[in-house]
Amino acid sequence: MSAKAMVLVGEQRLVMDEFPLPAIGAEDALLRVEACGLCGSDVEQYDGAFAAIGIPFSTIMGHEPVGTIERIGAEAARRWQVDEGDRVVVEPLMGCGSCRACLTGNYRICRNGREGLKVMGYGFIPTTVSPALWGGYAEYMYLDRRTVVHKVSNTVSPRLAALYQPIAAGIQWVAHIANTKVGDTVVILGAGQRGLGAVVAAREAGAHRILVTGLSRDAHKLALAREFGATGTIVADEEDTVERVAELTDGEGADVVLDATPVATEPILHAIAIAKPQATILFAGIKGSGKAIRGFSADAVILKELTIRGVAGQDLRAYEPALRLIESNKYPLEKMCTQSFPLEEAERAVLTLAGRTTSDEASISITITPNDLHRPGPSSDGDQTSAPPN
Ligand SMILES: [Zn+2]
Ligand SMILES: [Zn+2]
Repeated sequence: MSAKAMVLVGEQRLVMDEFPLPAIGAEDALLRVEACGLCGSDVEQYDGAFAAIGIPFSTIMGHEPVGTIERIGAEAARRWQVDEGDRVVVEPLMGCGSCRACLTGNYRICRNGREGLKVMGYGFIPTTVSPALWGGYAEYMYLDRRTVVHKVSNTVSPRLAALYQPIAAGIQWVAHIANTKVGDTVVILGAGQRGLGAVVAAREAGAHRILVTGLSRDAHKLALAREFGATGTIVADEEDTVERVAELTDGEGADVVLDATPVATEPILHAIAIAKPQATILFAGIKGSGKAIRGFSADAVILKELTIRGVAGQDLRAYEPALRLIESNKYPLEKMCTQSFPLEEAERAVLTLAGRTTSDEASISITITPNDLHRPGPSSDGDQTSAPPN
């Protein structure tokens, strides 16, 4: 028995390879991957940006996997409270369980992973480390004893469950970190999957006004933001964001601002301009290393007494409510699932996410579904109303 996987062997080079399925002991497990979500960092990884920070090539990409437990050891089943046949999502990062960070509940920032590895996380461990199957772009993924898994109802389609990371990000950032309260005004700059996750989280937290920005080409994302509960949307390349926020908030501005726009630095200045005194601003949009922000005023931050916080991930305190929200069907989240690709088209999936394909089809959330071809029936997502795979 073996598993096919897409391995990043060099800059922009994803190739199919095959690895033997590992023997499973008492403390580990094997996941049959049903869907793996993609995010902006998949594009950076594909482009080779992570090699510069010490994450090697020869990795099976994919850090947002959903699947069913194919095999599990007795001790792992007892600790994780899951059994063979259960559908689970997998947290990307593994803590050692012994260091100060882990023991104080900060397992996400554990730096005690494994000899010679910069990141102890799925999608980032090379295939030279046994048993090779360390990523979600594969038919099967190995689950190390340090893995954090969360059970999700088998009635939720794998593609929908694959939204667990963007939805959890919204919850952790907007609700838990920025402490959005009932009646607050939340402005979300950027309407990608994390921006949309933030809309849902702001709604759940009881925000009174939720304003979302996007570009004119993001009309479908802004429409969905309104469907999820945004009270206003702003087309950032056609309208003046600062003026529009002032108009839509009676001149008051925002209690919480999330910048979830990649690359562009202007939203940083907008965030500071639209923040109320003593507001919280979250920076989540990666701009590219060493990029200067022209026009940034420390004085405005001081005089308005702003809290500025960078946010880059989420933990079980957010994953658990995110999964319950996905299971609840309270929001039409399946409308975020725009495309899915078979394993052998992983490269096209990454390029589609990056906007480098000729197709101008609207995309929001993209998944790779490695086991779709082996299933009977016309569609593995028959119970969902999501858009058909392209
Ligand atoms: Zn990601
Ligand atoms: Zn640790």
